[in-house]
Amino acid sequence: MDIQTLALHEGYTKDTQGTMAVPIYQTTAYEFRDVEHAANLFSLKELGNIYTRLNNPTTDVFEKRFAALEGGAAALATSSGMSAIFYAIANAAAAGDNIICAKQLYGGTLTQTAHTLKRFGIESRFFNVHNPGEIENLIDTNTKVIFFESLTNPSIDVADIEAIVAIANKHNILTVVDNTVATPVLCQPLSWGVDIVVHSASKYTTGQGLAIGGILVERKNLLEKLQNNPRYAHFNEPDESYHGLIYTEVGLPPFTLRARLSLLRDLGAVVSPFNAWLFIQGMETLALRMQEHSKNALALAEFLESHPKVKKVNYPGLKSNVNYDMAQKYFKNGLSSGLLSFEVASLEEATKIVNATKLYSLVVNIGDSKSIITHPASTTHQQLSDEELKACGVPSGLIRISCGLESANDLIEDIKQALNA
Ligand SMILES: *Cc1c(COP(=O)(O)O)cnc(C)c1O
Repeated sequence: MDIQTLALHEGYTKDTQGTMAVPIYQTTAYEFRDVEHAANLFSLKELGNIYTRLNNPTTDVFEKRFAALEGGAAALATSSGMSAIFYAIANAAAAGDNIICAKQLYGGTLTQTAHTLKRFGIESRFFNVHNPGEIENLIDTNTKVIFFESLTNPSIDVADIEAIVAIANKHNILTVVDNTVATPVLCQPLSWGVDIVVHSASKYTTGQGLAIGGILVERKNLLEKLQNNPRYAHFNEPDESYHGLIYTEVGLPPFTLRARLSLLRDLGAVVSPFNAWLFIQGMETLALRMQEHSKNALALAEFLESHPKVKKVNYPGLKSNVNYDMAQKYFKNGLSSGLLSFEVASLEEATKIVNATKLYSLVVNIGDSKSIITHPASTTHQQLSDEELKACGVPSGLIRISCGLESANDLIEDIKQALNA
């Protein structure tokens, strides 16, 4: 079935009341039939609800539906995109291990990998997403994950998924891809051989800027890669904290199983049932919205490219863009998502334009139905010198826009008056 159909139906069988909308199961815990039932649930002889930190019927629909959209075997929802990323990495690596990440990353992911994981004894090594060849030299026997974004935020680059997966598979290393900006509507990394997809559900999934959440999806047949793989001994040896359970011998998708039974159980970054319900609502219109976000962004990018005050426009849907060929290869239906940036002559000029817009909100978020404008040099990248800004692809005259669902005409008119103000 197509994504649009799965997004409306997958994972939900109408409950006893026949409710069309998925109910919000707002509960902390669940009653067991008897002691034997409880024991069976804990030992996984029977699957079922135990406690909402581990599972919840509303969250379960969100997980099953999102897994279907990505073409995966199973999913695990979390309280934020950052916790989904942390769980994906911590499920593969431990102190003494290393991971290899693209340099072009979301700010929070960059600080998590470069700084916070280091405090847990996990080292991050970085490669340029435009040059996957750099990965090979960074790999050693303790490398546990290769991490990158399919469509990078905020630099708006498109990764060569196939090339990166080929290197990872040669060494039997897990690939983890953040697919937040592309969404499964544009790109399904698992279909290109990626092992794990992670998302911030706070962006296009909720779609209206309503809630923070994250999700991790595991591909089908990942068992084959993990079984007897010396890099992932912890999937093949008894887990003492779960009375000797061996994750590759349970008969369930092993990566999400371990993330749930050990990480979610002990670290507890669980999504609330209400937020999972909001994400279910958002998914119903995800495919439609991504078409409109992409159409608006392309129209705006084309207008900006023709404006004399604009030095450069970064949008993978433009033929002039370095990522155009990659976008054509990996993204479906000619869509390129709603994120674009453009460069004007100076910091002063950029400040004037951002302040003069009326329709765009000055906000550090993306994927909202309302259009958002940001000036990275004065906000997210404020601490950097002019030279450092240039090095990370953020010139002081750069303005980033997350195109919303207003009419393209109105979005263009507002930018036009701001550029001429
Ligand atoms: C926002 C974002 C995150 C972090 O997600 P939160 O839900 O805010 O924790 C991770 N990756 C990308 C690409 C993002 O845009």
